[in-house]
Amino acid sequence: YAILGPAAVTFLVGLYHGDSWIDLFMATVALSVAMIPEGLPAVLTITLAIGVARMAKRHAIIRNLPAVETLGSTTVICSDKTGTLTRNEMTVQQLWAGNENYAVSGIGYAPEGEIRQASHAVDGSKNSALSELLRAGLLCNDSTLKQGDHGWKIEGDPTEGALLVSAHKAAIDVQQLLADYPRLDAIPFESQHQYMATLHGRAVAASRPVVYLKGSVESLLERCSTLLGADGKSQLLDKDNVHAQVEKMASQGQRVLAFARLSVSPETTAIDHDHVTQGLVFIGLQGMIDPPREQAIQAVRACQAAGIKVKMITGDHAITAAAIAAQIGLDDTLSEGEIPKVLTGRELEVMSDAELIQATTGTAVFARVTPEQKLRLVEALQAHGQVVAMTGDGVNDAPALRRADIGVAMGITGTEVSKEAADMGLIDDNFATIVVAVEEGRAIFENIKKFVAYILTSNIPEILPFIAFVLLDIPLPLTVVLILSIDLGTDIVPALGLGAERPESDVMHKPP
Ligand code: ADP
Ligand code: MG
Repeated sequence: YAILGPAAVTFLVGLYHGDSWIDLFMATVALSVAMIPEGLPAVLTITLAIGVARMAKRHAIIRNLPAVETLGSTTVICSDKTGTLTRNEMTVQQLWAGNENYAVSGIGYAPEGEIRQASHAVDGSKNSALSELLRAGLLCNDSTLKQGDHGWKIEGDPTEGALLVSAHKAAIDVQQLLADYPRLDAIPFESQHQYMATLHGRAVAASRPVVYLKGSVESLLERCSTLLGADGKSQLLDKDNVHAQVEKMASQGQRVLAFARLSVSPETTAIDHDHVTQGLVFIGLQGMIDPPREQAIQAVRACQAAGIKVKMITGDHAITAAAIAAQIGLDDTLSEGEIPKVLTGRELEVMSDAELIQATTGTAVFARVTPEQKLRLVEALQAHGQVVAMTGDGVNDAPALRRADIGVAMGITGTEVSKEAADMGLIDDNFATIVVAVEEGRAIFENIKKFVAYILTSNIPEILPFIAFVLLDIPLPLTVVLILSIDLGTDIVPALGLGAERPESDVMHKPP
């Protein structure tokens, strides 16, 4: 209407002056063209595409153009812990078996180091419970350990790789063990069940097949009725003591895996979740460190300066999550080293939507969260008017990734489904890359504001001659072709220049 109104006035005034109506028609079309910013859609698309290219160079892949702009207005980033905020380079450092604690020396994936107790090396095969713990870690495992040109490396899940390394350090004859315990079946690890199980036949005659399980202490302990003693006999299981041991390891930021076993009837050749619900023998614990990424610590700082809240949403133990969050400095309202408050999946489950909306504001760490609960968390944050970026890697994370304003998928560990559902993918699975993308997104948003202002203001001088035409009765000054040349020729090129500006040094020092 703003354009049609003046165009109609021009037409009528011209008729009043006695101009020919064909000339007047051309004049009104020219005026309309002068006022419509034809260059804007082209410049906008090209600018967003430049943003996408820049982000790709910095390891963030954008799957749809408008996400570039949304990134710039992100107010909350919800991130996974393992692999995104941490390095995902696991090393087992502590063992607990047969009611005794052991330390494991050596760092990284090289199988060099030893099992120690009170600073003496111990033989992994001396004590039944200890050797069973290491054996369970080896057998209930889908990863492989290889020596490459650049040292030892893991193929598969680093959590499982660390268990291979600890078994190797105890000098277990791995080939012999795998031959003695051929695998018959397996239940793969899934986040919502939090454990994995494998069924092994026995090469030794008259031995019954055995199921080894590993997983979170919460998921295994409730299925166990006895504890494997150091002498290899079952004894009373003190669950509170097990939890206390887990908490001791977790408070140092260690990821703790629990192990259990179950002897099954000789004819068993396949297992299902129903077969491992009760009567298990608890074997012990392995605690592994997974240090925070140095870059993640800096990136979290950058977010805090930029007024963006960072929340950790993990499937790991509450105490492990809190310890890592404290090491990273996730919650800047706490003083250094102070342990942040954690909400667990169990607590979230019983909250109403209103309570959840209330709780999400003050909490930075969410632990033992299931993928389904991630969706509720996104919705609760959005109810506060937040613009939420959320990471995810599993199939079940897809709904939360879709719902988030920016769904972020993992390039290395992510499933295809999660990548399909996401708006952005991280080539390096690194939290810092999200922050880099936000910075670029903010710069692009600023650039869009600059060239929109430029293109709109440059239309004004194009209109002025028409005002003179109407008021002063001069001949028609600009034709349609002239105006199009100005708009598409001289407007777009400088506007593109504005669109391609680099981020200004203070973009990450302003609120979203
Ligand atoms: P996150 O990736 O956020 O740490 P996960 O859902 O991968 O969370 O893991 C949750 C818990 O499941 C872990 O704390 C651990 O106890 C257990 N777990 C993780 N990986 C495996 C695995 N490969 N096998 C058995 N249990 C595992
Ligand atoms: Mg994981």
